[in-house]
Amino acid sequence: MTTPTVLSLGNMLVEVMRVELDQPLDRPGTFVGPFPSGDTPIYIDAVARLGCSAGFVGAVGDDDFGRCLLERFRRDGVDFSCGRVLADHTTGVAFVAYFRDGSRRFLYHWRHAAAGQLSPEYVDPAYVGGARWLHVTGCNLAVAEGPRQACYRALDLVSPKARVSFDPNIRPEVLTVEQVRALCAPAIARADVILPSLGEAAMLTGAASDEEGCRQWAAQGKTVVLKQGPRGCRIFQGEVDLCVPGLAVEEVDPTGAGDCFCGGFTVATLEGLDLAAAGRFANAVGALAVTQKGPMEGAPTRAEVEALLRRG
Ligand code: ATP
Ligand code: MG
Repeated sequence: MTTPTVLSLGNMLVEVMRVELDQPLDRPGTFVGPFPSGDTPIYIDAVARLGCSAGFVGAVGDDDFGRCLLERFRRDGVDFSCGRVLADHTTGVAFVAYFRDGSRRFLYHWRHAAAGQLSPEYVDPAYVGGARWLHVTGCNLAVAEGPRQACYRALDLVSPKARVSFDPNIRPEVLTVEQVRALCAPAIARADVILPSLGEAAMLTGAASDEEGCRQWAAQGKTVVLKQGPRGCRIFQGEVDLCVPGLAVEEVDPTGAGDCFCGGFTVATLEGLDLAAAGRFANAVGALAVTQKGPMEGAPTRAEVEALLRRG
């Protein structure tokens, strides 16, 4: 089995979102969708669209929503040879409402859906062992036992020469902060690159600020990339502390920017770009991601990224 260069695994969802602002999810209203989604599927699709060989391990149901996801993977060239289409589960769904103050509300059906059936048996040693980069996220460690153990097995099986990136992508809701830290600890220990959003570095390290948390991880030898929305990113590595300003675009839908950003940073790093150039490339991928409605719709091609970088 030939392994793609970049692998990820986790929750495959379609997203169905409110059309209008300020429409709560507890009453009738109009929705638009389905859009292919899930944090790691968005990441891997971004990697593939940038032209890098990519594979994904996860599950969908044998239904229209599942076909929506698989068709996107097929179009963009994401290998799904270790993924599964389950006859007795339906594809996972996320409902999203947007509010005028910029907040979002998510309602997920995934633990008991096909996505939640991902388990260590999906994780083939030869497939994972051949990858040069593995991307894992905290939300796939926090929600259900099968996906969690699948991620831990991938972390065990990945080659010591491969790089591992970790995006916390987690807010303690049901779990306590201590539980979240314990579940994420094995991924953080193995990670070469950690890509937190605002608040996550402080939460996971217990530091007083994100900056302090990022410095703690950098002192442990990690490359830390703090995502800062429209402001771009800040990169910590050893003594280096580098602010890379964001690129100005018109934001249509912020969901998925962080995942696309991580895909951009992965591809740039694999291609040997230095930290500043990788940060700029990833900022451009994240910026383009927010210009389209739908979490995966804005994942850009390389030509689109290069055009935005030229424009500056
Ligand atoms: P999510 O979890 O919702 O996908 P996130 O919180 O992980 O997002 P953000 O910091 O919102 O991540 O966005 C990731 C990156 O995308 C930013 O670091 C930046 O480079 C880019 N980005 C996001 N929003 C904008 C914007 N409005 N304008 C320009 N660039 C943006
Ligand atoms: Mg995020």
